[in-house]
Amino acid sequence: MTENVLITICLLLLCTIVFCDISNNEIEQCNLPKKIKDEIASYAPVVEKIINETVYGKYKGTTYDHLADFIDKFGNRIAGSSNLENAIDYMLNKSIQFNLENVHGEKVQVPHWVRGKESATLLEPRYQSLAMLGLGSSIGTPPEGIRAEAVVVKSFDELKNISKKVKGKIVVFDQEYVSYGISVQYRDYAASTSASYGGVATLVRSITPFSLNTPHTGWQDYNDNITKIPTACITVEDANMLRRMYERGEKIVIELKMEAKNLPPATSRNTVGEIVGHSEPQKIVIISGHLDSWDVGQGAMDDGGGAFLSWNSAVILKALGLRAKRTIRTILWTAEEEGLVGAFAYVKAHKNETKNLNFVMESDEGTFTPHGLKYSGIPDVGCILQEILNLFPTINATQLQQPADGAPDLTEWLQEGIPGASLLNEAERYFWFHHSAADTMDAENPEALDKATALWASVAYIVANLSFDMPRNSTDYLHKV
Ligand SMILES: [Zn+2]
Repeated sequence: MTENVLITICLLLLCTIVFCDISNNEIEQCNLPKKIKDEIASYAPVVEKIINETVYGKYKGTTYDHLADFIDKFGNRIAGSSNLENAIDYMLNKSIQFNLENVHGEKVQVPHWVRGKESATLLEPRYQSLAMLGLGSSIGTPPEGIRAEAVVVKSFDELKNISKKVKGKIVVFDQEYVSYGISVQYRDYAASTSASYGGVATLVRSITPFSLNTPHTGWQDYNDNITKIPTACITVEDANMLRRMYERGEKIVIELKMEAKNLPPATSRNTVGEIVGHSEPQKIVIISGHLDSWDVGQGAMDDGGGAFLSWNSAVILKALGLRAKRTIRTILWTAEEEGLVGAFAYVKAHKNETKNLNFVMESDEGTFTPHGLKYSGIPDVGCILQEILNLFPTINATQLQQPADGAPDLTEWLQEGIPGASLLNEAERYFWFHHSAADTMDAENPEALDKATALWASVAYIVANLSFDMPRNSTDYLHKV
């Protein structure tokens, strides 16, 4: 996931941590009519069938196998690369091969940033090569590199306090990891903030709670009207070491070389396939993940897992003959990592469909063992989803939380009040791998993917097939059902 919408995500994360777990009380206050509860409960046999086929039967292991085929074939897939476009072609063909309907790509212009060769070398007080990754959208250095003395700060406030010492220096940020949503501001704004005090480059401690000396890349944003300076991430271990040296008063000199370039925008595509609804096809339930990734590791976890969870859910529903009243549409977003570029373009191009979006789902915060869903929407959406989740005790996926903060591509729709959900899963280790060379197939697990697929497919099918729409504003009609 990316963080173009930093403030929103910060609020969402704070919200999650502090007060937004659905308490038993709140669920007890649900006042759904018995008829609705009975209707949802009547899906127990369908859920049992989907779980049996996906977790134990014919489709056991298929989400993992499809994903592994794809990952081994393409590896990582950054926006603007021919590798991503080849991967999109492959998914379009595969969607047709697996009988999805209305399969097509929707074109969108995406940023095209290329990393090139890069290195950071500690020259004083001693020689050491520093593991690093340039940050997305960063400019490069001159060919001979930037060689400068470094200052080390823990925060933007600390930088401000020593602002007179910053001119001509490389600024190293050794900020504490609080949470991804809060700490990522240092990756996003280190360069422009440092440049405003005369800094010549920045090195930012990777945004991760755990490190085996692995740098974690990600997008960064330059402010308009401030000199652009090169910016990269370094490992937690090296950031800590540089801080210790700095606090001892040792002179630190670093040489940074980066060939990074921003090329003209490229054409990419959002990948779309459907199971057309049998009686209300104009109404849509979306299941999604993003197909692009960073240019390191394999993008198996971020977001290969989420993309294939959604894609294979549609494939399994189709194969099982489970065609719902409403249309189930799977979307594999492009250029999520560069600031939700594919999703923003899609929302704009599909404005006339917004009123018909019944429910939107994305998984982009890991596909580890599922526990349930995280949702956004009015309280009755939670009440309905909890009734649905009560059908999943056998795979232990009955928990409901809010908001749906693992669904960055849905940001605009969720802010508009369209009800939606992301996957609640055992994502505690998600940011260990995120945007690093460690994001490989080894972060994925076949059993966890099977359970997540069974849950995801079942929820999408039930919501798409209910006799009533998911409520957005008023729930009056629910009580007249
Ligand atoms: Zn992602």
